[in-house]
Amino acid sequence: MTSTLTPILTKFWDDPQSWTLATYEDNEGYQALRKALDMKPEDLVQMTKDSGLRGRGGAGFPTGMKWGFLPPPDGGPRYLVVNADESEPGTCKDIPLMMAAPQFLIEGVAITSFAIGCNHAFIYLRGEVVHVYRRLMRAVEEAYAAGYLGKNILGSGFDLDVTVHAGAGAYICGEETALLDSLEGRRGQPRLKPPFPAVAGLYARPTVVNNVESIASVPPILLHGSEWFADMGTEKSQGFGIFSLSGHVKNPGQFEAPLGITLRELLDMAGGMRDPEKGLKFWTPGGSSTPLFTAEHLDVPLDFESVAAAGSMLGTRALQIFDETTCVVRAVDRWTDFYKHESCGKCTPCREGTWWLKQILGRLEHGQGSEEDLEKLLDICDNILGRSFCALGDGATSPITSSIQYFREEYIAHLTQGRCPFDPAESTLFH
Ligand code: NAD
Ligand code: SF4
Repeated sequence: MTSTLTPILTKFWDDPQSWTLATYEDNEGYQALRKALDMKPEDLVQMTKDSGLRGRGGAGFPTGMKWGFLPPPDGGPRYLVVNADESEPGTCKDIPLMMAAPQFLIEGVAITSFAIGCNHAFIYLRGEVVHVYRRLMRAVEEAYAAGYLGKNILGSGFDLDVTVHAGAGAYICGEETALLDSLEGRRGQPRLKPPFPAVAGLYARPTVVNNVESIASVPPILLHGSEWFADMGTEKSQGFGIFSLSGHVKNPGQFEAPLGITLRELLDMAGGMRDPEKGLKFWTPGGSSTPLFTAEHLDVPLDFESVAAAGSMLGTRALQIFDETTCVVRAVDRWTDFYKHESCGKCTPCREGTWWLKQILGRLEHGQGSEEDLEKLLDICDNILGRSFCALGDGATSPITSSIQYFREEYIAHLTQGRCPFDPAESTLFH
């Protein structure tokens, strides 16, 4: 399959003042909301199911099905919470989307809230990105002033308030139940599931938690039809998505394309490797929590099923690309430091395990480890994977086990040479 870009959410990012309501309205903005308010909420849920839209936050759970899990209305509140806590290393799609075209998200919030019977929606934003917070606040104000939010939206009788909340900057608060605890004012730590948020979420009420890109995709789907969306992508991974390319690539950035596109095709669009003489060594298909791929995976279609069949996960489509000047042990050591730091400490395998993984990787990278250390790393990973309370623990093991699978000799070279065999001056990353 040969894919081209499908600029939909990214269509007018280059326009001057792309973030304003006026620009959005010039680009069919809020036409979908007008259409939605004339529809039955259950038809909107069905349309989303028919489109095949799957969660764009990483897990790929069917969005319409998630909405359909809400229990029947009981007169009490139900909530939509947008997970805007984008923090997966290498992932850079929701933040640019909210900066360049925030009204996509706000219109999506209004349509989704109408579909699920919610009158108060929340956008939980990563704490460090103050510039995004300001932009979102301004966009929400513009939408209120134009009558797209607030009381009696466009004369429909539907009321919706939107609160933008900035967290304090913790990776774990991107885990949906830790996010809900944080939003409620508590320390952000994952809750036991079930009950899933659909049944008992924010303030123990039925809650839909969806990623920014998932919700922003709703207006175009409604405007152009579920078939239009379902015709893109592959049979089970339908539609388009934003792929973020970073690292040793000539033109890093966001590339919106149908699911199923390959890294080879994306690399062509991004101008190729930074230095054509230095070949691709390894890459992440979906952020550092997904097992590494190598040059042999350049033609794996980037859809949920094909990436899983090749031994990794599509995750957040964060393609971090490393050429042969990069020391894989150093890269994995840096990522592991991140997981150790971000582990919330609730469960022992992750809290203790990530600490030990970091100790061992640190000494291996500096040539002070032993051959036993490789087996120790794998043993600790085995004791974390599947035994941790949430996905953070599992994710921490992915770069380690996959790098040992593909680059065991490089770990051994650190031992035999008693130092890192790479020249720090050559690689611009991880030094
Ligand atoms: P998950 O598969 O447990 O759940 C996915 C979603 O489906 C959740 O909203 C969950 O509530 C819902 N769900 C699943 N089963 C359900 C059921 N039986 N009933 C009702 N709802 C149900 O995955 P997760 O732990 O939420 O997320 C893990 C993913 O997060 C990873 O794949 C990773 O790619 C991604 N991630 C993303 C970022 C980021 O910055 N975007 C950061 C870290 C991880
Ligand atoms: Fe916290 Fe890690 Fe356990 Fe998740 S796996 S609950 S982040 S300690």
